[in-house]
Amino acid sequence: MNKNYVLETYALSKKYKDRFAVKDVNMHVEEGDIYGFVGENGAGKTTIIRLVLGLANASSGRYALFGVNSANKEISLKRKMVSGIVESVTISRSLTAIDNLKVECLVTDTKKTDEELIALLEKVGLNYEEIKNKKAGDFSLGMRQRLGLATCLVSNPRLILLDEPMNGLDPQGFVDVREIIMKLNQEGVTFLISSHILSELDKICNRIGIISHGKLLEEITIDELHKKSRKRLVIEASDVNALKELIMSNMDLQEVEIEDNSLVIYDNVDINKIMAILVNNKFTIDKIGLQEDTIEDYYINALKRG
Ligand code: ATP
Repeated sequence: MNKNYVLETYALSKKYKDRFAVKDVNMHVEEGDIYGFVGENGAGKTTIIRLVLGLANASSGRYALFGVNSANKEISLKRKMVSGIVESVTISRSLTAIDNLKVECLVTDTKKTDEELIALLEKVGLNYEEIKNKKAGDFSLGMRQRLGLATCLVSNPRLILLDEPMNGLDPQGFVDVREIIMKLNQEGVTFLISSHILSELDKICNRIGIISHGKLLEEITIDELHKKSRKRLVIEASDVNALKELIMSNMDLQEVEIEDNSLVIYDNVDINKIMAILVNNKFTIDKIGLQEDTIEDYYINALKRG
């Protein structure tokens, strides 16, 4: 158990009738992360969020919140440090913004003054004077998303789970919600955000979990994802360690790695110079070529690797 994990799952599974919606998921959300959960429609993102929020029970497997196992009685205390929005924002359209927050205070047994609730609205970019008489049903989608975030904040959570928070937002709404999330994150709130669009998550997350058909295929940091998507020279050889030694002793390179039995050079190199070294040293290789992927290519390849 790593004490920095605010959320960890162990072979978490959920079955509906005889079909797994989520199967053996082992995910790791560290304190301070904005963790992006990417997967196609029906991949299992919502199900995992519902399980962690306690809105559904796992068929098998467990999870830990802030180091406390879901089988432990104390989990209910830790759950109070978590809030989230699943599927459509659960706010009452017939109430004003502040009344929605008051309902949330009752639900989460939180005491907050009107001033504190107004400050929460302002924090998510809702101007109280402008909206105080308006019912949430008359808000734009972007305003409702902001109100949803304010609702999440009522109980002062340390972890917020958001299911598709960017869905349907216009570009400005997207930027606004992103900025609010990033600001809250800087104040110490960890986020788990789902989306079926990797490029959306790329702009905000520091870590990505790729989920498909109920399985978590991979967890990768955004830095690593970008690195793997960068232009690089890939050389395949039967003795890749010897190849690395040969290249490194003949060239001044900074970023050379062995990945999947290939030598991968991220430095900007002259391919002819490499070929000359190989020929001069009679070193046989299987394949050499430049590769450059987009992050979407990486995602698609991860799906293919399964
Ligand atoms: P989306 O992006 O479409 O919201 P998702 O990744 O959130 O997809 P889930 O909603 O978790 O996916 O669904 C995962 C699978 O579980 C789907 O095949 C779905 O049909 C199934 N499923 C989810 N909830 C139920 C339920 N209550 N009863 C039966 N099957 C369900």
